[in-house]
Amino acid sequence: MANRKYIVGNWKMNGMREQLSDIKEIAEIAGQNNQVDVAICPPATLIAQAADNNPDFMIGAQDCHFAAKGAHTGCLSADMIREAGAIMTILGHSERRADQHETDAEIKAKAEAVHAAGLGAIICVGETEEERDAGQAVDIVCGQLEGSFPDKAEAAWLTIAYEPVWAIGTGRVPEASDVEEMHAAIRNKLGKLMGDGADAVRILYGGSMNGGNASELLAVPNVDGGLVGGASLTAEKFGPIIEAAAAA
Ligand code: PEP
Repeated sequence: MANRKYIVGNWKMNGMREQLSDIKEIAEIAGQNNQVDVAICPPATLIAQAADNNPDFMIGAQDCHFAAKGAHTGCLSADMIREAGAIMTILGHSERRADQHETDAEIKAKAEAVHAAGLGAIICVGETEEERDAGQAVDIVCGQLEGSFPDKAEAAWLTIAYEPVWAIGTGRVPEASDVEEMHAAIRNKLGKLMGDGADAVRILYGGSMNGGNASELLAVPNVDGGLVGGASLTAEKFGPIIEAAAAA
């Protein structure tokens, strides 16, 4: 049976209080398409207010630390983001892997901390253009998945996002056949890592998804939703993606 589609907006370092009205509009569209799970991950500064304003809508975070507390200036624990109102967090986004030098081992530890705090986790994996050109994409992505895979993983709280680095924010999208090949490889790897529960883990595609290409991407086998950056910032752009998921 196909998994329920999951559409997640990653606002990255975008959004001031003024943009809380965009989250409200997006939450309304999500409410009208309740056969799809929809979430927005705003910057941490907006989590509490976004969650308070939209009690029936899923608000997530973009990262958290693996430690429960301590001397980690500038960081937030899983308990902190949960208390603010997040119900899950993105982990290991390629921008953090590159800018903050996050390792697979740290991402695994973060996912375990997130689960211990009662939150969901979306672990991001994806190859660079050089790695794809060298024919290494599947090996790189499956290696990231294995290295960052948390102990005691279950579909109830774990989601994987395949995001080719070269497709993020570029307007470039892989061929549907390449997405299909990668999502099948991820599903297969999940089977080896966790056995029977693997089929229920949702695998999102991310990288320049928009209202014009969402239907095609969401129809690819093993694509259970989307992780969306730029096109999640307004209801005008994000709404058509939610509607495409509802029709998929
Ligand atoms: C992302 O960064 O997670 C992403 C998918 O960005 P965009 O949709 O802008 O490519």
